[in-house]
Amino acid sequence: MTRFIIIDGGCSLADGLLRLDKDPTRVRAVFVTHYHGDHTAGIFPFVDLANWAWRDCKLKLIFPTRELIAATERMILASLSYGGKIDRERLNFVLAAAGRVYEDEHIFVDYIPTKHFPNGGTPSYAILVTERASDKRVLFSGDLSHGLVAQDLPGEALRECALFVCELYHFGVKELAPYLDGFDGTLCIHHLFERDEHRDELVSALEAYVPRVIAPENGGVIEI
Ligand SMILES: [Zn+2]
Ligand SMILES: [Zn+2]
Repeated sequence: MTRFIIIDGGCSLADGLLRLDKDPTRVRAVFVTHYHGDHTAGIFPFVDLANWAWRDCKLKLIFPTRELIAATERMILASLSYGGKIDRERLNFVLAAAGRVYEDEHIFVDYIPTKHFPNGGTPSYAILVTERASDKRVLFSGDLSHGLVAQDLPGEALRECALFVCELYHFGVKELAPYLDGFDGTLCIHHLFERDEHRDELVSALEAYVPRVIAPENGGVIEI
């Protein structure tokens, strides 16, 4: 049986899964890189439905801050009738920290601290997913520092990865290029916002540094 994990959810996860014909009850875990709304606003409707409607769904929710856990819990409670409760047997909220945050029989997941928030006090993370059987790794950058001035792209973890899912909104090709030295996997760029109209240019500029660059459409599938 295919199972899923989800990393971040700016758009509605419930809607997205159903549109892609994915069974929402097969999601095992939701990982959040940082609490900005474009990464979190779509998680609540999914978790809410998992709480009362999709009762086969047993979830780990790995969130970066206590505030995000508390806000999600309050939203669930506010949407239930009085006396309703969170089914904690199935919804397991976990506060993220650097290091191993999740493992099951197929994968394990590590959080790597980044410096997306300039104040330094608010946690943000890149996420490294490793498949046990193949030792293949996928790195998700999360959002990083503006212009990569904090040098927070985890270059060491990247070199061992088969796939790098990298945001390309807070910095450009010039800032990213030095980190791609020694990386021979697939680079997947996303989180482009208004740069989306330049996606083809961005892909060809990056092809000078890595063998395979993709900028997938919604619903795109990448095999590694
Ligand atoms: Zn952000
Ligand atoms: Zn963002």
